Amino acid sequence: MEYVNILCQFVRGDLTNEKFEKYICDNQLIESNIGNELYQSLIKENFKDRNAVTDIKSVINNFLLNNHPPKCKCCFIRNLDRSGFGSDFSENIFLHLKKTKDKGKKYWWISLYECNTCHQGWLVAQDENYDDFYFMRLDSVKIQDIESNNWPIIFDNYNSLSTIVSTSSRFSDY
Ligand SMILES: [Zn+2]
Repeated sequence: MEYVNILCQFVRGDLTNEKFEKYICDNQLIESNIGNELYQSLIKENFKDRNAVTDIKSVINNFLLNNHPPKCKCCFIRNLDRSGFGSDFSENIFLHLKKTKDKGKKYWWISLYECNTCHQGWLVAQDENYDDFYFMRLDSVKIQDIESNNWPIIFDNYNSLSTIVSTSSRFSDY
């Protein structure tokens, strides 16, 4: 189901228009998965037109929700993401995430979380200056590092968190 992952990455903004367009052109076999109508509209899409890309993301999003409804929200979180305390997006994310480790006293705002549904690991920082959560998607190597207390340093500077992850609007609020 690699194509579902690719579609999710494109919709949430982790895959550039150029790379997605190339994927669609190089992988004609996904037509049988996504159907002729959607495939044809992707092939004809002008990926340089911002409004057209917004529209096609909306179509893909509906396709995903109807055909591959996610059991958790991980697929909608960008590799590096930011979300306000108390927003619907944050509330939905934390329905499935559980904290498994804290970085420790000096870094009270940083923790390791794991999704109890898909088991994706996340580095999460809480920024009480801006009332935001920050997320970084972790691969298995990084998770092992954290388990041996070798934490990523990306969120270490509490006062620069807001400069690391922009507030650029996500495609939708899911
Ligand atoms: Zn998940």
